[in-house]
Amino acid sequence: MQNLPLIQHLIDGQLVAGGSRSQDVFNPATGQAEKRLLLADKATVEQAIASAHAAYPAWRATPPLKRARVMSRLKVLLEENAEQICALLTAEHGKVVGDAMGELQRGIENVEYASYAPELLKGEHSKNVGTGVDSWSEFQPLGVTAGITPFNFPVMVPLWMWPMAIACGNTFVLKPSERDPSSALLVAQLALQAGLPPGVLNVVNGDKEAVDTLLADKRVQAISFVGSTPIAETIYATGCANGKRVQALGGAKNHAVVMPDADVANAVSALMGAAYGSCGERCMAIPLVVAVGDAVADAVVAGLRVEIAKMKVGPGTDASNDMGPLVTQVHFDKVKGFVDQGVAEGATLVVDGRSITVPGHERGYFLGACLFDHVKPGMTIYQEEIFGPVLGVMRVNTLQEAMDLIDAHEYGNGTCIFTRDGEAARYFSDNILVGMVGVNVPLPVPVAYHSFGGWKRSLFGDLGAYGPDAVRFYTKRKTITQRWPSAGVREGTAFSFPSNR
Ligand code: NAD
Repeated sequence: MQNLPLIQHLIDGQLVAGGSRSQDVFNPATGQAEKRLLLADKATVEQAIASAHAAYPAWRATPPLKRARVMSRLKVLLEENAEQICALLTAEHGKVVGDAMGELQRGIENVEYASYAPELLKGEHSKNVGTGVDSWSEFQPLGVTAGITPFNFPVMVPLWMWPMAIACGNTFVLKPSERDPSSALLVAQLALQAGLPPGVLNVVNGDKEAVDTLLADKRVQAISFVGSTPIAETIYATGCANGKRVQALGGAKNHAVVMPDADVANAVSALMGAAYGSCGERCMAIPLVVAVGDAVADAVVAGLRVEIAKMKVGPGTDASNDMGPLVTQVHFDKVKGFVDQGVAEGATLVVDGRSITVPGHERGYFLGACLFDHVKPGMTIYQEEIFGPVLGVMRVNTLQEAMDLIDAHEYGNGTCIFTRDGEAARYFSDNILVGMVGVNVPLPVPVAYHSFGGWKRSLFGDLGAYGPDAVRFYTKRKTITQRWPSAGVREGTAFSFPSNR
């Protein structure tokens, strides 16, 4: 244990130790502990908040164009260091390196969007709202802001948050997932290299103690959270009770509807990537297919079976693999337990990936693709977010039945419909109670200049992540009304409410 490299915190521009507790960081492809992560205690997190607090006045006063230039430089550095970042990501998360590159690219696009901050922060001006009176709104930063991020997109989700927060003039404390923290830390170090002054961005590694400190500290004005729904709900309630602005994005259970007129071969190809890409550990993954009619259900199941047989499962470092391991032993046991439960509850296990082995990686957390047919709404594998390579097929008779099913589910993150019928697609996308909808697009993750957000228990708060919503989340509107009376003119007192009556 003593010989493992130690992962520290980044406070005030320096890597620092802090906290007496620590835990191992594992390589999921080998099952070996490769690093040791320091878990920040209250004092360490308070040190990071103090650094962000001290850096705020000067950073707020820095012209937006200069702040944006840091983002432009960071974009270049991220591109130049992509291989190193993705290697770290794969070593701790397990995802296949090509998938890691896709994640990083989506993160870079958020940095790129944050570099438009001067344009995005333009206010609204109205001349002569009353005689000789002008009025305008401007968008001011909040102060110290914080982000708490999940394991499944260790690079991209932090980049949803701090580039825009910082470009808007805030300072930031990031608490990455303790399961795969290194890539986010490296990206933060590159931001310093890009010219970010010390203290503007701090990274504290840790667990509940670190999060609780961020939630309690009065200097922290806003919290962005992405993770599971039970934690998101608690973070939202506690943060709001402590007077903070909070957005908390939670879990998901995304349904793909396949209509009888769909191009089944293309739908199957799309479903393979959406269900099993990144081992199903994506909040926009498709773990459920709702087939409209038995004929299409049979065709989809047959097609998936053929494609699953061709899949290559193995370490993420081998770019020819389609799927890597699950993130930890605990998560592996949980996902496998769901498959056991699906069988016990009566779903038909068409493809069983529970007993695969990857030669040379026998201690890795590899689970093969699993496919269930005849999944029913009452089953645990229907209700719960599994977050693994487990796809369930359900059978209904009409589009309305499919939509009623989706609307009744507690989550409303993403969904999609495969069809050639424009009327059905339009009706579905117009009426479904889900925040992000794809039409023949299985992973409708909005691009960086739109915003990301689910409905129902997939998002607590009013504004989504990144895009225009992030500009609003990380700023507060101030409206200034101004007049300059002519010198020497005596103005009378008015007791009636000012208006243009
Ligand atoms: P998680 O909820 O276990 O952890 C998320 C973060 O919260 C981590 O930084 C963790 O350290 C912290 N945390 C965990 N327990 C805590 C506690 N008791 N008190 C305070 N903080 C705590 O989530 P995860 O397993 O890392 O990520 C997977 C989940 O994230 C899935 O549910 C997935 O759907 C969700 N997710 C959602 C989105 C989205 O945009 N809606 C995106 C990615 C992931």
